[in-house]
Amino acid sequence: MDGMHDVVMAFLQEDVPPRGVALNVLPGIRRVVAENPGVMTYHGTNTYLIDEADGITVVDPGPDSAKHVQDVLAAAGGKPIRRLVLTHTHGDHCGAVPELSERTGAPVYAYRECIHPGIRPDFPLEDGSRLAGFTALHTPGHAADHLCYEYYAENGQKILFSGDHVMSWSSSIVSPPDGDMLDYYRSLERLLARDDDVYLSGHGPLLTEPRVLVADLLSHRQYRERTILAALEERDWAVAALAAQLYNKPDLFLKGAAQRNVLAHILKLEAEGMVEEHEPDTEPHPDTVAMMRPLEGVRTESGGDLSHFYTDSLRRFGLRRAV
Ligand SMILES: [Zn+2]
Repeated sequence: MDGMHDVVMAFLQEDVPPRGVALNVLPGIRRVVAENPGVMTYHGTNTYLIDEADGITVVDPGPDSAKHVQDVLAAAGGKPIRRLVLTHTHGDHCGAVPELSERTGAPVYAYRECIHPGIRPDFPLEDGSRLAGFTALHTPGHAADHLCYEYYAENGQKILFSGDHVMSWSSSIVSPPDGDMLDYYRSLERLLARDDDVYLSGHGPLLTEPRVLVADLLSHRQYRERTILAALEERDWAVAALAAQLYNKPDLFLKGAAQRNVLAHILKLEAEGMVEEHEPDTEPHPDTVAMMRPLEGVRTESGGDLSHFYTDSLRRFGLRRAV
């Protein structure tokens, strides 16, 4: 989310993809890019269609959009859609589930404890679960219910559907309490130990040599953690002020994302015994005031309200004093 230091991230860019049509990704795998572009979603959410002997598996049906559902059905052609598989239950991935499952009768596969109250998987998955050629890996961090899926393409390449845990175009937001930085580190380390050829992520193009990016993401977070610790060595900081100091984002949503990431880092450091929480600030930072205005009435990606963003922005932390 920020390029303020000397680790050059191996992120990929792509032109705005054609809308409403299935794009070839790999033999037997296509994607339809939903029309929900944004600072958090790039050109939109990738909905993957995978050809199986019995029909089509859809990975991440996408946002709540009748147009997108129509596009996915059209992309399936005459073939039946047999299953809807979710990497996690943020709205831009699962919003289309009710309509698509009603139109197709296809069962829903997702982690056994979904964070979205509206999603009840027909097939609750856990780490190691197998379905139709896919093996689930529980990779919490971006979302507590995040799964990646191992899959072998028709050409023999070892694929990982990496969802929003690792995206080809940008780093992921880790927003507590659903997002957890300690889990995120562990889930990245888990991917580093694997030998996947290609990642197909929730947003952005196909990623080859994926472990180069995973290693970058990890070192980027470690760098960020060091800068947060260094700032806390100087004095105590409230979350909003520290995020403004370290990230300097012009966009209001990115300011909000920076605050969430800073809080996630600090809570990790607190869990590791290095940081402690003090009395919160009483006045909101100007960034928080500006940020909350357009967020009024907006729900989180998993359907909750955002009032905790305000109280979290006031939370103040310092280095833990030796007793
Ligand atoms: Zn997403």
